[in-house]
Amino acid sequence: MPAGTIPVMETPDTTTVAATGDAAGAGPAPAGADVEPPADIDGIEHLLDEVGHTLARLDDGTYGRCEACGGAVEPALLAERPTARLCGACPPPPTEA
Ligand SMILES: [Zn+2]
Repeated sequence: MPAGTIPVMETPDTTTVAATGDAAGAGPAPAGADVEPPADIDGIEHLLDEVGHTLARLDDGTYGRCEACGGAVEPALLAERPTARLCGACPPPPTEA
């Protein structure tokens, strides 16, 4: 492109653009659409338990303290998983059904 040449932008003709509606555009699923319950209900209930426990710890001032060794839980660990109960040095308890 030669120097000094300004590309001419085509200005849309407003009289024709006004007629272009997108009422049929993509949007959220219509109301009444079937919503499958998440398969992992147990996981969600466990998460709620964890959150409730975390809130209780915030109340009594023990949030951020390792439940196993009493040391501080690393801030990075809490940032990643705010419900963390153990510091990075303590192994998580075995998960049993
Ligand atoms: Zn610990």
